[in-house]
Parts: sequence; C-alpha cells; structure tokens
Amino acid sequence: MEENTHHLINREGSELPRPSRPLMIVVSAPSGCGKSTLCDRLVDEFPKIISSVSCTTRAPRGEEKDGEHYFFLSKKEFKERIKQGEFLEWAKVHGNYYGTLEDTVLYAMEEGNHVLLDIDVQGAKQLRESLVRLDPRHPIRRGFTDIFISPPSMEELEKRLRGRGTDEEKVILKRLENAAGEMESAKEYSFQIINDDLEKAYHELKTVILSGLGLA
Ligand code: ADP
Ligand code: 5GP
Repeated sequence: MEENTHHLINREGSELPRPSRPLMIVVSAPSGCGKSTLCDRLVDEFPKIISSVSCTTRAPRGEEKDGEHYFFLSKKEFKERIKQGEFLEWAKVHGNYYGTLEDTVLYAMEEGNHVLLDIDVQGAKQLRESLVRLDPRHPIRRGFTDIFISPPSMEELEKRLRGRGTDEEKVILKRLENAAGEMESAKEYSFQIINDDLEKAYHELKTVILSGLGLA
C-alpha cells in the first residue's frame, strides 16, 4: 500500500476503497460506559486508526504507562503548556487536567492516519467552537467527526464502574455524579451510540466511521 494515503484496511487484509480525507474522530462518554473497550477494539482492528495520547495530571492507574496511555505531567508542566498554546483543547475533568496537544493530532494525520480522540464533553465543545475559526480546508475541520456513547442506564453505569475494579469508592462516586451532567451534552454530538450490547454498539461505531469516509 502506498504511503500517506488514508486507506482503511483491517487486520485480515481486506482493503476498503480509498477515502478522501483523514478523520479526527472525537469520542466522549461518561466514565465507565465502555468507551475504552470500544475504542481499543477499533484501533486493534484498523491499524490506520490511531489513538491520540493525551496529557493528564492524574496519577497512572493500574498498568498505565507514560507516553502510551497518557503523558503524565505535573500541574506545573501542564499549565506551562497551556501558556505556550500547545493544546488543541484542554479541560479539568474529575479534579484533574486533561488535554490534547495540537502536534500529536496533526502529526498523526500528516502521517496518513485517522486519529481517535477520547476526550470529555468540555473538550469536544471547545473543539466544535474552534473549528469554525479554521479554514474550511484545514484537516482538523474537514475530518471532525463527533460521537457520544451513553450507558443503557445509570444503574448499569454504576455496575460497570464497580466491576472494572480500578477506582476507589470516592472516585467512583465523583464519576457517577459527573455522569448525569455529561449526558446532557449528548445532543450536541453528530452521532450517539448506546452501549447496551457491546457487539451492537461496536457495529454502530464502525458504521459511523465508515459513513464519515463515504463508505457506508
Ligand atoms: P470507559 O473507558 O468508558 O471508562 P471501560 O471501557 O473501562 O469504560 O468499561 C467499563 C467496564 O464496563 C469494563 O469492565 C468493561 O469490560 C465493561 N463493559 C464495557 N462495555 C460493556 C457492555 N456493553 N456490557 C457490559 N459491560 C461492558
Ligand atoms: P480517565 O481518567 O478515566 O482516563 O479519563 C477521564 C475523562 O477524561 C474521560 O472522560 C476522558 O474522555 C477525558 N479525557 C482524557 N483525555 C482527555 C483530553 O485530552 N482532553 C479532554 N478534554 N478530556 C480528556
């Protein structure tokens, strides 16, 4: 396959027709909805879709590695990068700072990839607002696709957060408290997916992306 194109080719090797542009796929969901499960599967299936590595001031969780899951920064370092205008978007979520470096996204797109951003509702809102100021031909504006993933119910969300077994009780409670507010933002997204049955939700996610490429 020639370099620097935006083909979507799955691990089995079946190549899809050449899409016209790289996508910047923004996915938001209340914590515990299954967003990482869905996004990890997507990047596993399609090597040309890569996850944007965000910066955060929160502590690493479980096996998380610096530079792989997040760039773990001190609050001082994070604020310095805000001051330097390095973030495409940033927000304070559950008491910690999170942000996407503009370079991370542009570099991935220039390399011929579709880039997947797992960001919160505030970050997605900032991006939507800043898009209108960009040239219509700017890759970020052309490729912007936003998707909101909802849980089937708040009870199921609580069950998943506890079942994941990675967060302390007070963290779980904070995430549940924030979830209700985040759900209010679902309508601002172009696409909404309810993650009830995992297979069905994954199929819907793929359909949205393929349709963004004019392939479905
Ligand atoms: P998020 O990234 O949104 O915080 P995770 O992907 O870590 O959420 O999922 C939270 C928990 O819910 C995990 O234990 C995951 O295996 C489980 N989970 C994800 N999707 C489903 C689903 N459709 N049905 C049941 N459990 C699910
Ligand atoms: P977690 O701590 O569970 O990894 O992430 C908590 C929340 O922060 C999730 O809703 C996730 O989408 C969001 N998040 C992760 N990275 C970024 C980012 O770069 N920018 C913004 N705005 N939110 C992020």
